[in-house]
Amino acid sequence: MTSNSAEGIRWDLSDLFSSHDDPRIEATLNECRARAEDFSSRFRGKISQLEGLTPKELLHGLKELEEIEDGLSRVASYSSLLYAADSLKPEFQDLEQRVEQRVTEVRNLLLFFELEWLELNGDAAERLIHDPVLEPYGHYLGSLRRFRPHKLSEPEEKVINEKDNTGRNAFGRLFSEITSALIFSLERQGKKEELTLSELLALLHEPERELRRRAMETLYQELSHHGQTLTFIYDTLIQDHLTIDRLRRYPHPMLERHLVNEIDAEAVSNMMRVTEANYGIAHDYFGLKARLFKLPRLALYDQYAPIGKELAPFPFAQGREVILDAFEAFSPVFREIASEFFTKCWIDAEIRKGKRGGAFCASPSPQLHPYILCNYTDNLRDVMTVAHELGHGLHGCLSRKQSFFNYDTPLTTAETASVFGEMLVFDYLVERQANPQVQIALIAGKLEDAFATVFRQNVLTRFEEAVFSKRRAGRLTPQLIGDLWMSANKPYYGDAVEMPEGYRWGWSYIGHFIHSRFYCYSYVFGQLLVLSLYRMYREEGKSFVPKYLALLEAGGFDSPEALLKPLGVDIHDPRFWQKGFDEIKGLVKKMEGLVEKG
Ligand SMILES: [Zn+2]
Repeated sequence: MTSNSAEGIRWDLSDLFSSHDDPRIEATLNECRARAEDFSSRFRGKISQLEGLTPKELLHGLKELEEIEDGLSRVASYSSLLYAADSLKPEFQDLEQRVEQRVTEVRNLLLFFELEWLELNGDAAERLIHDPVLEPYGHYLGSLRRFRPHKLSEPEEKVINEKDNTGRNAFGRLFSEITSALIFSLERQGKKEELTLSELLALLHEPERELRRRAMETLYQELSHHGQTLTFIYDTLIQDHLTIDRLRRYPHPMLERHLVNEIDAEAVSNMMRVTEANYGIAHDYFGLKARLFKLPRLALYDQYAPIGKELAPFPFAQGREVILDAFEAFSPVFREIASEFFTKCWIDAEIRKGKRGGAFCASPSPQLHPYILCNYTDNLRDVMTVAHELGHGLHGCLSRKQSFFNYDTPLTTAETASVFGEMLVFDYLVERQANPQVQIALIAGKLEDAFATVFRQNVLTRFEEAVFSKRRAGRLTPQLIGDLWMSANKPYYGDAVEMPEGYRWGWSYIGHFIHSRFYCYSYVFGQLLVLSLYRMYREEGKSFVPKYLALLEAGGFDSPEALLKPLGVDIHDPRFWQKGFDEIKGLVKKMEGLVEKG
């Protein structure tokens, strides 16, 4: 049952445009196009030439580019926000399509800038990057160049792009087609049901143990029927990745991902080792959960079984007050900014037909403010979702002093403010909760969430490393991949959780392995970073607050490593990552105490 406590909570997009047929939309697109043509006529052929541009000229060029991009972003954001809010309206669909096409046309006119910047020789580029005149864009210009050693010639790049459509992209589509068409037959209360993958996975959170057991059994049985094909797809994509790495001169399969994330291999490997050294926390928690269920040990299908007592529903207005109070306890600035989202209608929370599911926060321009979309159904989960998106929203507001190219952050730190926002609300709720059973449910939810993003994603990354290294010796078989999967999982579950034989197919439906290789450690990084920062906040108290605000204000002005330094964070220091685990350990201890009392 869904409630309509958020009815009427709709966003007001008039800071962007007034309606889908606002003549300013067309005018903005025309202006952007004219400016891009003018820019191209003045700069094309000059960027890559050694003495072609003075730092001042380049600075003006960058500012012009930002203005054009800002205009495009406003139009593109507006059309996609309209579409997200009501995808059934044909006029919104038309606008979305038209804008997409026009924006691409303008961006194609400007593409030469980046390509020429990459062509420029190393010394000349270094001089410009470090020129005081270009200081605000030093990081931006430098980070564009990180892919330079791995770019191929233009004709080669074109061939790869075109062949990818029938190569790796086609295998990715085949994977999606197979996994989204999966149907699982399961008997429930005497009736045979046909379930999709996500419906089946949801059953693993059900209170009834036998149902969970059968759901898991059904999952792996069905997957095993597609095992040969899924193995073939994965094996082909790994080989494709290794081939392209060789051509692009990447010495290691993870390196490209590290460059995208602006992180170095050493920091990642430190983080992963510290994570492994803390698997014992998971074993303790699983042991505690087994005792609560009076089991000798947990089966894999007990992992997400609910414990404790669920919180009473939160109508939207109450959820809003909880979030604002929790934010205020951290900093009045947080409350002040977050309140604006509600009072100025920057948030769309009601449930409507035609509205996009899930939740997101969009930040069209540093000169404006972000917008939030969510579908509020009065659950605790919805309160956490709003806290999460408002975290992004705070980040988008606080970093407004950055220019367009320095506004966004790379993936590794993009979720810092959002997950931190969730932590604030979580803590606030646990502290004010009198019923220990509700506290147990809250903490269990948080812990299982953290385990899934930290421990499990670490396991997934170790598994990817193992399959890539085995692939060098030859083709992968279902047997071999299953073995590697089980041994990557073993250290995490240890003797605390029994893995069924069918779990050998546990790797086979995970889209990240197919669509975005080595992505999973970014989740570990993001979650641990927040837990560690939160730990610092607990230890340092109020003196932590201004440093954290400064981090958010910096947006994407520098690399994550450089931005985190003023907080005393050294991502190469294992002790920093350990702080995150101390925070998790603290929660397990707290729960043990509650269970003993209860
Ligand atoms: Zn997010």
